[in-house]
Amino acid sequence: TAPLPSDLAIAQAARPRPVTEIAAAAGIAADRLEPYGRFVAKVDPRPDEVSTPEEATERKHARGVRYVVVTALTPTPLGEGKTATAVGLAQGMAATGRSAALTLRQPSMGPTFGIKGGAAGAGYAQLLPMDKLNLHLTGDFHAVTAAHNLLAAMIDNHLHHGNTLGLDVRSITWRRVLDVNDRALRTVVVGLGDHQDGVPRQTGFDITAASEVMVILSLATSFADLRRRLGRIVVGSTYDGEPVSAEDLRSAGSMAVLLQDAFQPNLLQTLEATPALVHAGPFGNIATGNSSVVADYVAMAHADYVITEAGFGADMGLERLVNVKARASGLTPDAAVLVTTVRALKTHSGRYTVRPGKALPAEMLQENPGDVEAGAANLLHHLAIARSFGISPVVAINAFPGDHPSEHEAIRRIARATGAEVAVCTAVSEGGAGAAELADAVAAACEHPAGYTPTYGLTESLEDKLTAVATRVYGADGLEITPAAEHQLARYEELGYGGLPVVIAKTHLSTTADPARKGAPTGWSLPVRELRAAVGAGYLYAICGTMRTMPGLGTSPAAERIGVDDDGRVTGLF
Ligand code: ADP
Ligand code: MG
Repeated sequence: TAPLPSDLAIAQAARPRPVTEIAAAAGIAADRLEPYGRFVAKVDPRPDEVSTPEEATERKHARGVRYVVVTALTPTPLGEGKTATAVGLAQGMAATGRSAALTLRQPSMGPTFGIKGGAAGAGYAQLLPMDKLNLHLTGDFHAVTAAHNLLAAMIDNHLHHGNTLGLDVRSITWRRVLDVNDRALRTVVVGLGDHQDGVPRQTGFDITAASEVMVILSLATSFADLRRRLGRIVVGSTYDGEPVSAEDLRSAGSMAVLLQDAFQPNLLQTLEATPALVHAGPFGNIATGNSSVVADYVAMAHADYVITEAGFGADMGLERLVNVKARASGLTPDAAVLVTTVRALKTHSGRYTVRPGKALPAEMLQENPGDVEAGAANLLHHLAIARSFGISPVVAINAFPGDHPSEHEAIRRIARATGAEVAVCTAVSEGGAGAAELADAVAAACEHPAGYTPTYGLTESLEDKLTAVATRVYGADGLEITPAAEHQLARYEELGYGGLPVVIAKTHLSTTADPARKGAPTGWSLPVRELRAAVGAGYLYAICGTMRTMPGLGTSPAAERIGVDDDGRVTGLF
């Protein structure tokens, strides 16, 4: 078969429909649209769409909406095609006569110009307009950047004008953000100059996706809820160790104003005119890594199947969707699609190493179902994770050009032995028609109502919550907590944060905290180095391993190849 044209070539050859038509077909009234050009519009959430998690749960049941989350086994550094499969599945649902809408994260521009070069799906399973999606879109990330940095400016201004709150300069954890990968900004000194130029102190920049404001945008159930969460952000503590909040600094109102437009989800479309709400993009490493609650709420009012993606593998994004996002939104998944690839399973055999930005080792492309079987433990582990949440898993074999039928057969055998539904998905090469089998399997799985089971109760201690995720989701024997982290845990319980859920910041390249360990290792402990609080977003997070919150650019970043031709068409995004 001939190789597929590039993603960008497919996207540029497509004829998207005006966004007003996409909205009309989904039953979204024209007076709720704020178009940004012809193919993108913001959608004003209706008051009866945004409210409380309890009301959302009721509405979901009343409408009989199915909420489907696309997750994956432990990926290679290349990604195994969750976004592509989510887009393909939505197209496949529509192709099989069902009403579907997608809710997806907005890509961060950092990786677009770094290594990834685009995150709108792949081949014939893509979102349009692809270039806008991968660049500024409607400016939501810039609004988050502005709101975040306004709070930073208010902090430094407070220090400059006498620091009446007694904010301990050394305790300030609120940094600045920018949606550009820029390692030189990881650590900076602000306030240099003369007396009028502020108080000198060391701080730094994170990528905008890592901002707590981004997580707040993604978890808020209404604009009023967003405003309250902004006020609860803790930026540091007083000399007496008491938390200082954005409300104390009288900054949250202005931050909310900056986010008014950003709170509205962005309506785009797939290559086959399926509606897609793209909204928020919290960093998977330290945050929830899921698209916004408000986009799910809006989608739920306009489709029978709402299809969303949870970042990284089921141990990461799906765990956070179940234990953090679903608690905030009131929406629990009816089915989980576990994206599986031949290349990932071969990697989990431990026989090959895949490196980002490099071609696959040649031996990996040879027909070898034995290698696939040898990596089965990882897939089995992720199936068990989904089931531990009470969610029926469907294995989606994301077919790549170099795959062999015997290797797909091996995946079917592994999945079927556990009783899971399994379907090959060829949406990347064939569009929605290639996801028809998957759409049927997912619809069938949704009819076996799952009993939602979070991993822990909110009243359990913070340490018990971390232990529950480590042992029941990751397969660890327990935790290995540093004394400093123990101390922080005790302090957070004292401050009244004990009832919050937890996020564990670890590598996504292994179910353990060590990216080199493949398969499904047992007999290990999760090392908890440090605890941090995202009080506004509403969770605590444990740092396990080294976590970068400001990526750098590589020796040959995608930015060197991206440009624009004489006709104004973007080149080099793929
Ligand atoms: P994820 O959302 O899991 O990170 P993506 O959908 O972004 O994964 O896909 C990861 C990479 O793999 C992208 O570069 C995408 O173009 C490519 N890809 C995904 N599925 C296929 C496929 N079936 N055939 C070829 N390339 C694919
Ligand atoms: Mg993705």
